[in-house]
Amino acid sequence: MTSTVVGVDLGGTNVRAAVVNREGALLSTLVQHPSRAQDGFQATLQQIVRTIREAIEAAGTSPAAVGMAVPGHIDAARGVVRWAPNFGEYRNGIFEVWRDVPLAAAVQAELNLPVVMGNDANLAALGEYYYGVGRGRARGLIMITLGTGIGGGVVLSHAQVQGGARWEGGILLVGLSGGGAELGHTVIDFAGPRCGCGVRGCIEAYAKRDAIIEMARESMQRNPQSLLYTLANGDPTQITPALVSQAAQQGDPVALAIWHEVGTYLGVAIANFINIFNPEIVAIGGQIAKAGAPLFDAIHATVRNYALPTLLEECQIVPAERLEDAGILGGAALAWQFVEAQA
Ligand SMILES: [Zn+2]
Repeated sequence: MTSTVVGVDLGGTNVRAAVVNREGALLSTLVQHPSRAQDGFQATLQQIVRTIREAIEAAGTSPAAVGMAVPGHIDAARGVVRWAPNFGEYRNGIFEVWRDVPLAAAVQAELNLPVVMGNDANLAALGEYYYGVGRGRARGLIMITLGTGIGGGVVLSHAQVQGGARWEGGILLVGLSGGGAELGHTVIDFAGPRCGCGVRGCIEAYAKRDAIIEMARESMQRNPQSLLYTLANGDPTQITPALVSQAAQQGDPVALAIWHEVGTYLGVAIANFINIFNPEIVAIGGQIAKAGAPLFDAIHATVRNYALPTLLEECQIVPAERLEDAGILGGAALAWQFVEAQA
């Protein structure tokens, strides 16, 4: 009986893979290569295949399936990347992004292994459900991943689907064609700042990495007496979310106010998620979640003002546990679901 799968995290910079057991432990060293995202489909395909092969060799096992986390609109049922803005190639000086690329079948043909895939933020939620704070038992888990954008995923359990879902594992909500659960594009103010998607007031426009940095630069320059200003040597280009966290941990009121503002925006969006999905857990992932108490205190305070009280009573809002390998673990969780469904 086979007892391993391969989890793959395809990113715009690197593709990473590891062999993972049923409990979510990485059994091989993590193999990583450049994804060559702008060199066309064949170049990226070869990098993916090479990375997976090396991970399998390092673990010395015969995995049962491969699960891939891919950023973009992923039609998992058809194994097709509908749209992936980070991937493509230049033709006549114009960058043509991946549209309707049959990625799963192409990887499967090279490896002779079943290949399943999904959107990276959705799979991060699935990985956290099985191997992180959800532990495979959560009665509903929402995850948002704070980074260059804001990713979101929704995992329900059969007890939360009225009308007879039979699958006892996590049920990943992806919608009609896999494009679903774009929680980062939840609008919290229709007159708000412009988001990368073109719309005004998405939560991503307020709480993505660059928005936090911009906010911190402005308040640093208004407050030259602050610790944040000192830590950045008065240089706005030195501001990072980690530096804001460092200043906040040492009690700098300017840095604390930044996390309070970010947490307030996030709290409004999260209250919406709680009201719609009635989850047991809201997990916050991504490196920015390391801001800790100053961020989470503001989220909790805001959610109390916007979420329905009985739904909030049952819900925990916590940092995600598996921050570092979320894509790989999500791919592995999807691969294990595939293996179990075959059994
Ligand atoms: Zn948006």
